[in-house]
Amino acid sequence: MKFPIAHKTLGLAFTLLLYALTIPSQASGIWHESRQNHMGTEISVELWAPNKQSAETITKRAYAEVRRLDQMMNPWNPDSDLSRLNRAGAEGPVAVPREIIDVVARAQHYSALSEGAFDITFATVGRHYDYREGKAPTTEKIERERIKLGYQHIQVDEQAGTIAFDQPALQIDLGGIAKGYAVDRVINMLAEAGVKSAVVSAGGDSRVLGDLGGRSRIIGIRHPRKKDEFAALIPLSDTAISTSGDYERFFERDGVRYHHILDPGTGKSASGVQSASVMTSLAIDSDALSTTVFVLGVKKGLALVNSLPGVDAIIIDAQGQLHYSDELLLSTEP
Ligand code: ADP
Ligand code: MG
Repeated sequence: MKFPIAHKTLGLAFTLLLYALTIPSQASGIWHESRQNHMGTEISVELWAPNKQSAETITKRAYAEVRRLDQMMNPWNPDSDLSRLNRAGAEGPVAVPREIIDVVARAQHYSALSEGAFDITFATVGRHYDYREGKAPTTEKIERERIKLGYQHIQVDEQAGTIAFDQPALQIDLGGIAKGYAVDRVINMLAEAGVKSAVVSAGGDSRVLGDLGGRSRIIGIRHPRKKDEFAALIPLSDTAISTSGDYERFFERDGVRYHHILDPGTGKSASGVQSASVMTSLAIDSDALSTTVFVLGVKKGLALVNSLPGVDAIIIDAQGQLHYSDELLLSTEP
């Protein structure tokens, strides 16, 4: 993948996306934009449609799809299939919807690739943090809980459609991968409905379908420390991009930044990186990988990305320095 990247930091509106630099120039139709809150974040659906009525009908279906997945995978909703699994997984195999099997299997793939930097069982410790309330568990508690987590304790039986845990305290949370999956589902749905050009975002996970009248969509990577600025601008078409940052959900105490991406090896917030952005075809992959690269840090993160064909990354380190994966570096050389 080759991207001409704008290195300049631009002071533009506070939003991940830089809107409407280009509007499709197809013959007749409208560019329809909408936003709703689901999955603990803002979901936006923008699409090109023949008219307002068809745009609204398709958009409504898109949000219904997001709500369906939220109901299935939300760990805080006691009625979700995921909560049911978390309650009963240690007692034996639990039958779960095929989509949970697929998402957990993909998560396990990235856990194996990253030797556990990405690990949905981080929640075994992670559930004891409350970022809104500014609460973190004691060091003793972190140590006690941390040794219980580990993706190896999840047994996925794809054939039987069941998942079991071989560790009684194990808890899983799909927060690092489910939004990407939801974005992919919505994009597939739009494509099946005949939409040729769209941008779907769920918080830091976006995917661009098609291009905008022959031109790429410009996606901005937020400056991790300056709310209204972008650290880089990237033109994308038919690609997903996810950004994991330490500025989304955090609190600070005694000079320590407690944020929502945990290093499963320590049970504490991963440090060394302010933001990690990953670009690849599917949002489920860019989502899981942005979290993975964030935890791995610059050196190991870039090594992983450079070993995966069709995957690119931009990492902003603790000093605010930008680092690019090999293919991006090649494409930005003069
Ligand atoms: P965001 O949710 O802000 O888009 P990410 O995609 O990076 O950002 O996901 C962060 C979420 O991933 C956390 O809120 C948590 O649910 C989950 N998570 C945190 N640490 C890990 C980890 N080491 N492995 C897998 N998932 C994680
Ligand atoms: Mg992610």
